[in-house]
Amino acid sequence: MLSSVVMSTETPTPFERTDFIREIVAADLREGRRRSIVTRFPPEPNGYLHIGHAKSICLNFGIAEQFGGQCNLRFDDTNPVKEEQEYIDAIAADVRWLGFDWGEHLYFASDYFQQLYEWAVDLIKAGKAYVDDLTADEIREHRGTLTEPGRESPWRSRSADESLDLFERMRAGEFPNGERVLRARIDMASGNINLRDPVLYRIVHATHPRAGDAWCIYPTYDFAHGQSDAIEGVTHSICTLEFQDHRPLYDWLIENLPVPSHPHQYEFARLNLTHTVLSKRVLLRLVNEGRVKGWDDPRMPTLSGIRRRGFPAEGIRDFAAMIGVARNESVIEIEMLEHAVRDVLNRTALRRFAVLDPIKVVIENYPEGQIEELEVPNNPEDPSAGSRDVTFGRELWIERDDFMEEPPAKFFRLAPGREVRLRSAYFVTCREVVKDPAGRVTVLKCTYDPATRGGAAPDGRRPKATLHWVPVAQAIPAEVRLYDHLFTAPYPGGDDRDLFEDLNPDSETVRRGCFVEPCLADAPVGTTVQFERLGYFCPDPDSAPDALVFNRTLALRDTWAKLQAQGQRDPG
Ligand code: ATP
Ligand code: MG
Repeated sequence: MLSSVVMSTETPTPFERTDFIREIVAADLREGRRRSIVTRFPPEPNGYLHIGHAKSICLNFGIAEQFGGQCNLRFDDTNPVKEEQEYIDAIAADVRWLGFDWGEHLYFASDYFQQLYEWAVDLIKAGKAYVDDLTADEIREHRGTLTEPGRESPWRSRSADESLDLFERMRAGEFPNGERVLRARIDMASGNINLRDPVLYRIVHATHPRAGDAWCIYPTYDFAHGQSDAIEGVTHSICTLEFQDHRPLYDWLIENLPVPSHPHQYEFARLNLTHTVLSKRVLLRLVNEGRVKGWDDPRMPTLSGIRRRGFPAEGIRDFAAMIGVARNESVIEIEMLEHAVRDVLNRTALRRFAVLDPIKVVIENYPEGQIEELEVPNNPEDPSAGSRDVTFGRELWIERDDFMEEPPAKFFRLAPGREVRLRSAYFVTCREVVKDPAGRVTVLKCTYDPATRGGAAPDGRRPKATLHWVPVAQAIPAEVRLYDHLFTAPYPGGDDRDLFEDLNPDSETVRRGCFVEPCLADAPVGTTVQFERLGYFCPDPDSAPDALVFNRTLALRDTWAKLQAQGQRDPG
């Protein structure tokens, strides 16, 4: 492929891979600050994982693998209003699909609710937390701005005993949602707004997917996260840059609580992709408003969506390795992801024949009723992929746009009087064009040269085009769904547009009346093949034995490699 000429797309082995976080980890081990490494991937189960999460998964699990450590899968399930068991199950399945294994280390922040509660009580007793009666709006008003200090709540000077009593009554369910919160007593004048007495607990009367109705107060992300890390012995708590300003609070809590270990937080830049929105909130809206068919719609950037689309996990891991990990925010072109996926599929996908827009060829000098089995390689670039037999007969389907009645100069495919090769079969020449009353071509009457069996002529002549084909009698009808970017704009919602104005109205095109070769009848969901000359395709879960459905994973053309070759992009 072109791409391998212009750049090395080989994935470095984990041991060669490095980035600023891996350098920190390596130095911590080398210089004895840490004896072993524990990382974690901490999803909140309020949606499905997307390709941005894959970057974090590859980083956290990749570091554990590389340095002989451990990576926990921990659900950050502290907000029962938005969290569901469905999401927990889907997230675990997606991480496993990506190729990572947390072994016994599956954890839930909700398992630590009792411990977190006791630590909150410790803070109150030490005068480092208080119950505040201000409403959420009032707390916001008191918080100040980046340039103005905050104002203290009138309840800030409440005695520890009174706060303790109120906190216990909050837990007992005496107050409605929002009536009181527990706040850390840090510094309302701090330059870092996160340190202006952040909320640690809020009242939420809601059934938790795992804890049931045991609690009606729930810790905030800030109070749960670092302490969960400490309980699990996490050494390197790796998160995205938006948490950088929370790190002083993370450290304050770790220093002021009797936690069993001292994790450190490190931040990296989140993945942004052109033509894509990576935000569970927005993805949930797309699902709820019916803009897509569900979380696993093949146009979604969710892991379940791209899996259904036919992207192999290896391609996602390679992509994560290609983009690396850094602290500067950037937007990656989606073509780079597609390039990584094509690279894997080009090596691994079996080649198959399918005709998406069929036109019939009748070979008039091929005996009526005769058929023969022709051996066709499964991957011309990989002999070890073997071959299969495809039935050849008098009537075949070819692609409508592989024929032109009046071909322009650069059109080398079939035309009246012209000979082309049918892949691994014979040379055929078009003799007559049959049309319906509307003038649409219905049949191409052709002849074949029996001496060209297998696709080569004894006299060495070589047609300029090789076409794919499907035998009419054996062809299996199929529906094929063609996908394009979900958003037309490279930066959806840019220039203050409504995000949904940028949705691509043609992101899905359904083609009915396609034909595929018989061996695809029982292709399992999850196996992506190359329809020769058309692209990569995979069976969709909607497929039934008598109604096959295929998704186009990607077209063949590698736009990213082309951009690279033209020198328009930094090879990275
Ligand atoms: P979203 O912004 O999509 O709602 P989130 O950050 O709320 O995602 P979490 O479940 O909290 O989702 O994320 C789990 C982990 O994945 C966090 O450590 C978070 O930093 C990381 N993560 C989320 N989005 C990205 C991204 N685009 N690139 C890299 N890492 C990400
Ligand atoms: Mg989050």
